[in-house]
Amino acid sequence: MLKISAKPSLPVWFIFGKKFGEYSLDMLLAFGKERIDVLLAFSSANITKENIDFHKKLENPLGLMALIVAAAVANDAYFMNWLLETEGDLFIALFNSSDLGSKIAILEAIFGELIIGAENIAQKMGISIEKLISEVQAVLSFLTRRHRSSITFDALMKSLTAARFIRAYKLIKFNRGIIIGGWVIAPLSEFFHFSKSYYQEMLRKRIQILQEKMKKSPNYEAYRAFGEELINYWRGKKVTIQRYTEKHSKIPTRGKLWEKTEFFPPCSRILYDQFIATGYLSHNERLQLGLFLKALGMPLEEQLKFWYNAVDNVGLSWEKFLKKGGYYIRHIYGLEGSRKDYRPPKCETIIAKYFCPFAKLNFSELKEKLRAINPKISASAFDKIQKYVISREPRKACAQFLMSMIRGMGFQYSISIISHPLQFVRILYRYARGGKYDSKRTPKNV
Ligand code: SF4
Repeated sequence: MLKISAKPSLPVWFIFGKKFGEYSLDMLLAFGKERIDVLLAFSSANITKENIDFHKKLENPLGLMALIVAAAVANDAYFMNWLLETEGDLFIALFNSSDLGSKIAILEAIFGELIIGAENIAQKMGISIEKLISEVQAVLSFLTRRHRSSITFDALMKSLTAARFIRAYKLIKFNRGIIIGGWVIAPLSEFFHFSKSYYQEMLRKRIQILQEKMKKSPNYEAYRAFGEELINYWRGKKVTIQRYTEKHSKIPTRGKLWEKTEFFPPCSRILYDQFIATGYLSHNERLQLGLFLKALGMPLEEQLKFWYNAVDNVGLSWEKFLKKGGYYIRHIYGLEGSRKDYRPPKCETIIAKYFCPFAKLNFSELKEKLRAINPKISASAFDKIQKYVISREPRKACAQFLMSMIRGMGFQYSISIISHPLQFVRILYRYARGGKYDSKRTPKNV
């Protein structure tokens, strides 16, 4: 029987702040394999929080503990990255589906002491509420502007939260809060927003601490064998799933799909149009678009020609461009550097590190861009998109936009969330062809 002691409001799936009993390596191995199955199913089939069975399996946090042990002893960077990224995605899916009490308990486990509400914060800081409000208004004007459309200023003040700087410095680094007397102050939603990256950091630290402990353990060899067995299991399962996904993710098409911008998801379409119009994109945006175009089958030569039009290449001969910018483009085709065959990032990664318009643009900008892509979009579709933008669920907002495009073609289609830009293309292309696949015409790289 699994015994866990923790704060009652911490959900059972959350491993931090809990004490675990002793378990044999055989038991941990079984839990670890189960966790791998769950994580792979989560990332490939997009199992959602609504799935009850999935929740039941998650109720055993020992699976994650087993994977932490494997990561600590195996020294496999690929496994470690996969673990942190997938557990991070899973964390945020579960966090978003938790009730407010559990969310606050999780935030306390991550950020330490929290003070919630402007009045409580003013009291703790020993300043008047008026002074606090004036500081907040002056320094967080961008945040209040951003929130004003959805909640009142009063509600924003009630949700104002303070945490120690040492535990919440990232909010300051990204201009999401102000700092008074060693405390970071920001709306509660900003702490929600940063919880995933802090959670991943906590996992990474737990792995590092364990790594040091394990090295000194007389049972090191047994732990190493345990780690190897789990990672081999993960490799085998991952290959099977990848093959399945690749087989089922091919996009049948007539002609060159990378030229059919009407099927691009908003992230790629906006970047593409911006590059054509201005010749400029930031480094990360170029990488995002370059990988996407490559996945649609754009050959290297075409991609080189495409990027040669960048403003920073004005006056540069084709030969010089091939040496300078060409290197980076060949890199994403796996022909330079580490020679990896890079795949385009999934939506979660794009939202965190690259450009997703539903996460990055303010609503009036977003509306303008979406209307340019789909002039027939209805007011009610915009309302739904806005709702998800406000609740910071960009992938759900994107699903609403996709549905609006399919509706414009005269079909009814329902999807709740988008996981990958290629998924967006695949679905839209299918409906443009009357809802049918043509298995004969398939670009090789997708
Ligand atoms: Fe692109 Fe995904 Fe954002 Fe849609 S949700 S715009 S596919 S990153």
